[in-house]
Amino acid sequence: MTGPRVRSSAEQASATPPGWQTIGHDAASAMLLRALRNGRLAHAYLITGPQQIGRRSLALDLARAVNCEAGEVGDRPCGDCRQCQRITRGIHADVRIINPGTTIETEKVRGSDDTPMSRVIKKGHVDDLQHRASLKPFEGRTHVFVIDGAELMLAPAANALLKTLEEPEAQVLLVLLSSAPEELTDTIVSRCQRIDLRPVPAEVIERHLVERMKAEPATARILARASGGRPGWAVVALSDPTAIDGRRQSVMRIMGALTGSLDERFKYARMLAAEHRKDREAVYKELARWTAWWRDVLLVKHGIEGQVAHEDFKDQLVGVAGQVEPRDVVAAIRSIAATAEALEHNAMTPLVFEVLMLDMPRIDPATVPGVGTADDGEEWQDEE
Ligand SMILES: [Zn+2]
Repeated sequence: MTGPRVRSSAEQASATPPGWQTIGHDAASAMLLRALRNGRLAHAYLITGPQQIGRRSLALDLARAVNCEAGEVGDRPCGDCRQCQRITRGIHADVRIINPGTTIETEKVRGSDDTPMSRVIKKGHVDDLQHRASLKPFEGRTHVFVIDGAELMLAPAANALLKTLEEPEAQVLLVLLSSAPEELTDTIVSRCQRIDLRPVPAEVIERHLVERMKAEPATARILARASGGRPGWAVVALSDPTAIDGRRQSVMRIMGALTGSLDERFKYARMLAAEHRKDREAVYKELARWTAWWRDVLLVKHGIEGQVAHEDFKDQLVGVAGQVEPRDVVAAIRSIAATAEALEHNAMTPLVFEVLMLDMPRIDPATVPGVGTADDGEEWQDEE
């Protein structure tokens, strides 16, 4: 039995303000809040980490913090004022998220063929940003530009952005988000303060789901462990009943392919190619699932089973781990990365997926419990 918690003064000093929404990145949050309170925020940040780990949440917390109307700096972001609310709702005129799907206003006027399918950030995006940055903020104190997928900037865009990074304006905060910072040029990286977000412990995500989002404890436990340390995934999955099922189907497809005959593998390869024509992102997610699967196999092989993302498939992981050597796993992960790379370069998709299937180690189905044939996973359902 515990009574109501009373915060110690040390806790109060380091506590996050009420409007701070980032889950589980305490060190990063504390560092940014300290900089905010001391008036020492950088002009540009580079937040790295995998999708849904909290990069965008942290960027938006910063956007709210620098525009919040709360009287005490230590109370920002309050989450309640007009500025905070408009940023949360995504309708604040001075806070803009730029990603490959963002329409470029200047090109739109000229009639560009820019489509949401585009997977790059062009110079036009940066020109647009620089034009907006040169104006006074419209409704808040500070322009915040979040470039989501900074590694997708084409060279002319990156060169143009350097100018903004080298001559920062007082009322402009740039936040670059990247899951592949090694693809950014050193000149860009060196001009940003870098914040690397690591996977959040499952217990922290579980607690957030139960206490803040009123999830059932059993559901929270599965989602927190399935999230791979990505709170964003767990939060989305909580409100999407198909997420768990979609994930299960994805694992079943992977197990089916690993234990299947060559015919079954090629059938799966054709299914990937067909899906790729309809929905590229779904295929990238499937490849990410493959990588996560092999990563888990490696963890099991090294006896670090407590950290696996597929805790609910532990028996299958152990079955697979018993049949492969670490070097097989590393080769498999490399092959998956090469597949993603080839897709980026518009390679012949059926062939690419067939090569992937030939590269995967064959697993004896008898050693993997509860796995049917590759046909089980034929129906495709998005997990996220
Ligand atoms: Zn506020």
